[in-house]
Amino acid sequence: MSSFRTLDDLGDVTGKVALVRVDLNLPMKDGSATDVTRVEAVKPTILELADKGAKVLLLAHFGRPKGKRYSTMSTSFVQGDVEEVLGKEIMFIPEVMGPVVEQSIGILRNGDIGLLDNVRFWPGEEANDPEFAKGMAAHGDFYVNDAFSAAHRAHASTEGVAHHLPAYAGRAMEAELKALDAALGNPEQPVAAVVGGAKVSTKLDVLENLVGKVQHLIIGGGMANTFLAARGVDVGKSLCEHDLTDTANRIMDQADHAGCTVHLPYDVVVAKEFAANPPSMRICNVHEVASDEMILDVGPQAVEALGDVLKTCRTLVWNGPMGAFETEPFDTATVALAKTAAALTEGGSLTSVAGGGDTVAALAHAGVKDDFTFVSTAGGAFLEWMEGKALPGVAALTA
Ligand code: ADP
Ligand code: MG
Repeated sequence: MSSFRTLDDLGDVTGKVALVRVDLNLPMKDGSATDVTRVEAVKPTILELADKGAKVLLLAHFGRPKGKRYSTMSTSFVQGDVEEVLGKEIMFIPEVMGPVVEQSIGILRNGDIGLLDNVRFWPGEEANDPEFAKGMAAHGDFYVNDAFSAAHRAHASTEGVAHHLPAYAGRAMEAELKALDAALGNPEQPVAAVVGGAKVSTKLDVLENLVGKVQHLIIGGGMANTFLAARGVDVGKSLCEHDLTDTANRIMDQADHAGCTVHLPYDVVVAKEFAANPPSMRICNVHEVASDEMILDVGPQAVEALGDVLKTCRTLVWNGPMGAFETEPFDTATVALAKTAAALTEGGSLTSVAGGGDTVAALAHAGVKDDFTFVSTAGGAFLEWMEGKALPGVAALTA
């Protein structure tokens, strides 16, 4: 891993202004947050800097105002939630640069926290305008990025500012980068990747990156159907991207050359209609799917065999559920494999890292979200990392 500076590399910060990029894009209902996980994630960094006597300026986006100021998208809406999680009062500052920010810094005492307004109110943010970045940087003595979830965007607050100030990874960013490095950057081998979810087309780059890096590629979910079809299996009316069978074959060839074993289900759970516990549901071999049936989950024999594969591995990286897990009982394979991975992690033989919106939901549903080594809630940034892409917000910290 190219090295990045962390809060451990900071000298005395007493009285210095820390410009801290955080993710406060909280899900809201009726004016208050329904989930404050993102605030909890950045709390250690904020409090550490405040405890060390810095004046902490929080920089964040909120919604998609697209370069215009909307009163409904002000970060002041999350001020109360942030204060509650931090256990501290903070000062709302309705700008991101200029005299108002300067005056506010004058009022803040050492260890106080200010919340700047939604950085996406200004078009310079998403355009990564160097002048805009410079204007924000002018108020800080150093910059801390603790928003891995926004690191795939080269925006002024996630990338540009880092060129004008000494830049450091916050504690959440540091933990995320270390976990991701242990999973794919510099993992203990053998490595297994589970890739599931709905469609091959959304995860082509992920698959192509993984075949060169892992020893076992376990394909489940709707995307397994496209691979099965590529191998000549009749998948009936399953979700399947028939136009991508050549691509699937190419990926399987690449895996062959790279010494990566591709695991596809050999038994599956099928039904004639997509509903909870449909009467037509049955388990069958992949070669026995009828033309009016669809594959909705991986079968029990395959799940058992995949568990055995995980037992031989030291590292697991997982994105995408194995079946249509939102509908009972098509969560069975996902839950069973997640529990196996969690047990192996607890037993100390497996480092397990997972991410992806639906994957996080599926692991929570399986009750094992806290039993994996690391579960990333970063969404798009996690996927781009799985695609092997350099994330601009991370690159700016290592330059
Ligand atoms: P993530 O958000 O973790 O990256 P995806 O969005 O790629 O995951 O995929 C999740 C979706 O895939 C879920 O909504 C799930 O219902 C769907 N899915 C999984 N297996 C199947 C299947 N066999 N048929 C249809 N949909 C499936
Ligand atoms: Mg999804």
